[in-house]
Amino acid sequence: MTTMTPINTIAKGTLYVVSAPSGAGKTSLLKAVLRKLPELKVSISHTTRPQRPGEQDGVDYHFVDQTTFQQMLTEQRFLEHAQVFDNFYGTSRDWLEAQLVEGHDVILEIDWQGARQVRKLMPESCGIFILPPSREELLSRLTNRGQDSDEVIARRMAAATAEMKHYDEYDYVVINDNFDIACDELAAIFTARRLRIESQKVRQHHLINNLLSDTME
Ligand code: GDP
Ligand code: ADP
Ligand code: 5GP
Repeated sequence: MTTMTPINTIAKGTLYVVSAPSGAGKTSLLKAVLRKLPELKVSISHTTRPQRPGEQDGVDYHFVDQTTFQQMLTEQRFLEHAQVFDNFYGTSRDWLEAQLVEGHDVILEIDWQGARQVRKLMPESCGIFILPPSREELLSRLTNRGQDSDEVIARRMAAATAEMKHYDEYDYVVINDNFDIACDELAAIFTARRLRIESQKVRQHHLINNLLSDTME
């Protein structure tokens, strides 16, 4: 992993980093939360992983080959990158910086290694870790998703412990047992964060200026 220059610090939007062991439900949860909070944006990572049935290039991921990924790495076009299982994953810098500067809140769905890199570059980012209710349930979700071979599932289960060991590097932990409750809890984090004084000062500056001025308009 190479060291990156710090991200543009005049960024106004909030950057969220969501991690979880594979199969814990982060993709389904974020999809559901986005239906409630459509102003949030999810960054689309680049990956060398093969496309799963039903996944769309440019929607779920930007699917690229190893050569393209390496080229992007050399050109420092990733904010962070990591090798997860046998595949490379990375967050492209340009799109993300533009979104934050324009004031949009952006979610990165990335592993703990990438989360560490982002936290260093943007300590004010907000980290959320999603845990499954049990190991048995995690295995059953990976199996029922029906997207990966038995061998891939076995490796993802083994990697799950390593990923979960990092849960306490994050600001929030959500347990995805009952889907609707977990979804409400995630939405509560995003909503509370938007209501923080630093955000509201920027978002509501017209209203606040009006309320605090002595003259009626
Ligand atoms: P899934 O999480 O089981 O759906 O499997 P994926 O192949 O989509 O993702 C595997 C792992 O790669 C997960 O831990 C993701 O959080 C992580 N990941 C996805 N995109 C990125 C990225 O851009 N950067 C990093 N560091 N990790 C990523
Ligand atoms: P991840 O993105 O973390 O790998 P997914 O969102 O793909 O996980 O979820 C893995 C599987 O578990 C999917 O088949 C999804 O439908 C299912 N799932 C997600 N949340 C729950 C839940 N609370 N209860 C039962 N199944 C769930
Ligand atoms: P989506 O979030 O796109 O609606 O759903 C993604 C996947 O998650 C679907 O396969 C859907 O069945 C599953 N899913 C969503 N909510 C629940 C839930 O509450 N329980 C279970 N078991 N699966 C869910």
